[in-house]
Amino acid sequence: MNYERVKYETPATGVARITLTRPEAANAQDYLMLSELNSAFDEAAGDEAIRVIVLAAEGKHFSSGHDLAAPEPNMEDFPTVGTQCHFDADGTEGYMAREAEMYLGLCWRWRNLAKPTIAQVQGKVIAGGLMLVWPMDLIVASEDATFSDPVVAFNVNGVEYFAHPFEAGTRLAKEMLFTGRSLTADELMDRGMVNKVVPLAELEEATLELAVHIAKRPMFGLTLAKQSVNQAVDAMGMYSALQAAFSLHHVGHSHNMEVHGRRIDPSGIDVIRSEA
Ligand code: ZN
Repeated sequence: MNYERVKYETPATGVARITLTRPEAANAQDYLMLSELNSAFDEAAGDEAIRVIVLAAEGKHFSSGHDLAAPEPNMEDFPTVGTQCHFDADGTEGYMAREAEMYLGLCWRWRNLAKPTIAQVQGKVIAGGLMLVWPMDLIVASEDATFSDPVVAFNVNGVEYFAHPFEAGTRLAKEMLFTGRSLTADELMDRGMVNKVVPLAELEEATLELAVHIAKRPMFGLTLAKQSVNQAVDAMGMYSALQAAFSLHHVGHSHNMEVHGRRIDPSGIDVIRSEA
């Protein structure tokens, strides 16, 4: 398939690599990128020769998050894969449906792909960037990688895939949300969010080496192992927690719309920029 915002390659036997190709915008995510990413994941999932999927990004930064400058999307331009509807409805109805489809829905879908996935991460991962990294099974980061969710400054709880407590632990989750601070790869390695930290020059090779190592194992065993771990986290309530936080996220959006006439508090951007 031809993509504009992502690149699809098969760099080794059994391995597919999907790369975000919008480095000029720090891989900011518009709906086109997310939709193409979903198609590329489907392409890898549907290819019997592929056993492991790597998600990488071109340029200095993995992803600066959702593209806040993107024009209002027309949902008819994107094939939807979830159960949402009424995307064009006024008020919270349409907006919540769009975020449920394009943000939470896609992330949860990728989290449940039946093949192991590895995020190959360099530079900044900001807010919506976490929503590409966290649904992956393993995370290999370069030494310069940092992870942050500063969107509490926008008067919402955090990003739409609210996995912070599961990914960073409750204390660090609260700290990262309350302060907006960037957490380093080393720090998150200690907390178990990152599997491996390597020099930037070795990132691609180290990630591919791990993917090749995993791809030597039989597909069904890998799928069963992945599902077993995922189901353990589901039994701890992860999906219910994500849904509850998503609902609160939309309380935040609706409040901001009522008070500021925008879905995010416009003063937040200055707070974030002043601390960047
Ligand atoms: Zn939102």
